[in-house]
Amino acid sequence: MKAIPEVIESARVAHWDDRADVIVVGYGIAGACAALEAKRAGADVLVVERASGGGGASAMSSGIFYLGGGTAVQKAAGYEDTPDEMYKFLMASTRAPDAGMVRRFCDGCVEHFDWLEAQGVQFERSYYPGKSVFLNTTECLMSTGSEKVWPFRDVAKPAPRGHKVARAGDDAGSQAMEALLARCAAEGIRAAYDSQVTGLVMDADGRVVGVRVKRSGEEIHLRARRGVILSTGGFNLNRDMLEEYVPLVTGNSEPLGIPYNDGAGIKLGASAGGATQAMGGVIATASFYPPAQLIKGILVNSRGERFVAEDSYHGRTAAHIIEQPEYKAYLILDAEIFAYPELTDYSHHTLVDGWETVEEMEVGLKLPEGSLQRTLAEYNRHAENGEDPLFYKHPEWVKPLNVGPYAAFDVSFNKSTYLFITLGGLKTNADGEVLTPLGRTVAGLYAAGACVSSIPQDGEGYASGLSLGPGSFFGRCAGRRAAAATPV
Ligand SMILES: Cc1cc2nc3c(=O)[nH]c(=O)nc-3n(C[C@H](O)[C@H](O)[C@H](O)COP(=O)(O)OP(=O)(O)OC[C@H]3O[C@@H](n4cnc5c(N)ncnc54)[C@H](O)[C@@H]3O)c2cc1C
Repeated sequence: MKAIPEVIESARVAHWDDRADVIVVGYGIAGACAALEAKRAGADVLVVERASGGGGASAMSSGIFYLGGGTAVQKAAGYEDTPDEMYKFLMASTRAPDAGMVRRFCDGCVEHFDWLEAQGVQFERSYYPGKSVFLNTTECLMSTGSEKVWPFRDVAKPAPRGHKVARAGDDAGSQAMEALLARCAAEGIRAAYDSQVTGLVMDADGRVVGVRVKRSGEEIHLRARRGVILSTGGFNLNRDMLEEYVPLVTGNSEPLGIPYNDGAGIKLGASAGGATQAMGGVIATASFYPPAQLIKGILVNSRGERFVAEDSYHGRTAAHIIEQPEYKAYLILDAEIFAYPELTDYSHHTLVDGWETVEEMEVGLKLPEGSLQRTLAEYNRHAENGEDPLFYKHPEWVKPLNVGPYAAFDVSFNKSTYLFITLGGLKTNADGEVLTPLGRTVAGLYAAGACVSSIPQDGEGYASGLSLGPGSFFGRCAGRRAAAATPV
């Protein structure tokens, strides 16, 4: 990692400009949740935020929290879910999962949902049964992952776990942040805005005891008696870090985030000896559905071969497209299911053409001779019986593609516009303590949210809501643990 800031020795700090028990760096969802829990555990908390107000990327998000295990909304919608089923799903779908973290999250989800509501985050008792990427309505519960996709549906009983905040529009996360920030203010949590943390201060024992802040062109130092919590978001907007760790998104992909999601927290953590994890992990998305009928089509690569179950979560599908030769993929449809992808405004999937026969489509897409004809013949043969022995696409999405004319959309990773979020970050334990490469804790340093690699580590294992869900949950854990530290 380049441009890691220097660590400042506490002996070199001549004057502390302010003091708190716990200093939280960044006022998005992870920071707000950490601040509330630290304050309620009796700590004097100061949040230091680079922008002129709190909210971060969390406030512009779609507001989907991945939560389960039997939340009040799941129950109201008639879905049975348990922490064990949720655990089994996340362990199976996550690359290199930290079992302790996953267990803590699944066991704590129901309480966490209730806690979020108690802070004023609103969730309707309603269920959206369709296939969607985000909802413009106030509906709450929806399937946002690959729970019903093989092999996961055989490993764990599927349940919808996406809980969307009850605000219409694609920035429902703003309601959650308004509620949490109002609660922080009401409980007397102090905040310093327009204040960029540029370095960590360490004492002679290697404990993080404060931060260096750039404010109005001045440099000041703030003392943290119990701990510093980093919650500055991901590195979507840091071009150098993207080129170093995820160069494939530096083409025509678009980052989802705010300009200050520049990896500052990851670098600050690394400066104090913190390890990083899954830095190449990214969730990219340019969903070809809705409408859901398009899931009945098939995806083929430049060899004319299928490579993923088309009913996968859109981020999982994108992860598989990224692995295809030259990132190329086409969505193949017949006349019975043809429709334009509804999200084409931002994904820019282009209709290549329409053809009377499969042979003509194969030529039109410049696929190897016979390849698409073979793939479709094989697919249709099993689809007649509602089966897909290659990828076990769920029978509800399986139908023979044999009604001409045919059409193909180009959904290639280097052609369409894929939106992405970085998933790599600092390695922590379930209490939010930053860990060194040897697994020791960095004394006095905690982290949560998108500057941490917590549960999801790549697009294949992601489900919508796995940023706000674990980010808010482990933010609380970090806040409690930092508040409980012995003061220095
Ligand atoms: C359009 C969009 C839709 C999304 N939808 C969803 C969704 O529905 N569900 C989901 O789970 N995820 C979603 N995400 C991702 C999710 O919003 C983020 O991963 C999550 O909000 C990160 O929370 P955070 O608290 O870690 O960071 P943020 O909310 O980004 O907060 C970080 C804060 O730290 C501040 N900061 C940065 N550097 C410094 C510094 N050096 N000093 C002081 N302060 C600093 C920033 O200004 C910011 O306020 C979406 C993201 C976007 C952009």
